[in-house]
Amino acid sequence: MSRCYNFCAGPAALPESVLEIARNDMLEWHGKGLSLMEMSHRSPEVVGVVNHAEQTLRSLLGISDDYAVLFLQGGASTQFGSVPLNLLGDKLSADYVNTGQWSKKAIEEGRRYCEVNVVASSQDTNFSTIPPQAQWQLGNDAAYLHYTPNETIGGVEYFWTPQVEVPLVADMSSTILSRPTRVEDFGVIYAGAQKNIGPSGLTLVIVRRDLLGRANAMCPAMLNWQLAADNESMYNTPPTFALYLAALVFDWLVEQGGLLGIETINRRKAQKLYAAIDNSDFYANPVELPSRSLMNVTFTLADAALDKQFLTESESAGLLNLKGHRSVGGMRASLYNAVSEAAVDALIAFMLDFEQRNG
Ligand SMILES: *Cc1c(COP(=O)(O)O)cnc(C)c1O
Repeated sequence: MSRCYNFCAGPAALPESVLEIARNDMLEWHGKGLSLMEMSHRSPEVVGVVNHAEQTLRSLLGISDDYAVLFLQGGASTQFGSVPLNLLGDKLSADYVNTGQWSKKAIEEGRRYCEVNVVASSQDTNFSTIPPQAQWQLGNDAAYLHYTPNETIGGVEYFWTPQVEVPLVADMSSTILSRPTRVEDFGVIYAGAQKNIGPSGLTLVIVRRDLLGRANAMCPAMLNWQLAADNESMYNTPPTFALYLAALVFDWLVEQGGLLGIETINRRKAQKLYAAIDNSDFYANPVELPSRSLMNVTFTLADAALDKQFLTESESAGLLNLKGHRSVGGMRASLYNAVSEAAVDALIAFMLDFEQRNG
């Protein structure tokens, strides 16, 4: 077996030790005569695993009982609709910040349900900046403010939290669990699982309980947070395999020293790679310095005609999925929690060598 280094933006790398446990558990879970995925989701075994996932997540993020933790399906994209359906109440508008492709998608979906007030946009810098809050034009009667703390495609990340009177809603799909977060600053945090939580098919929603109970009468049952909370995320059959793997990933994070421990590693990984880019005339990153993402590092080559060769040769060197998103071009290395420092070192060594041969 030869596992490569995987820099995929999502679904992303999983910790190897987690995959090994899953392999050992695959045919028979804990001597029960069957795999966990073949058990009823109402069985004590599966309920126990889901409870363990929730408790470990609560302790990692410091989530108080004022918040419900919901394990849902449909990806972050489904939450683009669930957010207005659950939070508008009798309000007619909501505030959104536009810092890139994922913000835009949330805005488009929000427009089906309410008047979307775009309080600020970084489109004019090709999404390489984050507009400071002093420039935001907040609405008068918004039900909530929605923003994207890390734009996975552009590689821009907030290292500050917006201060607003209305509930703050964050799409944390690509930054959750990468460093400590003050959950109490947020009304709602949501994330697709396939970057830092586990495999795809699972969506996490953390919602302050006083925001439950406002869902629109037309809100489908499967999108209703209150219903999910009342049924402990088992209104219907949940994705049990994804939950099982997420529980293992949370345990792995505890072993890494929790979120402070993983933050130290993540900062070191990102700083190394940005330094390698900045110290070269061959590679470039367009993002303003204070907003460079720890999780998604984009870079271009001095000559885009070399992109294809870079990708072919990096793949041969065992460095997978470095192609940038089609809307940005160039390269993107996603450095999620499960991407090791050794992977980043190998990437930097390859980049130096490629530059020497082609620069
Ligand atoms: C990946 C991603 C999404 C989309 O997630 P799905 O689970 O595929 O719907 C949305 N927002 C952000 C910030 C993402 O990184």
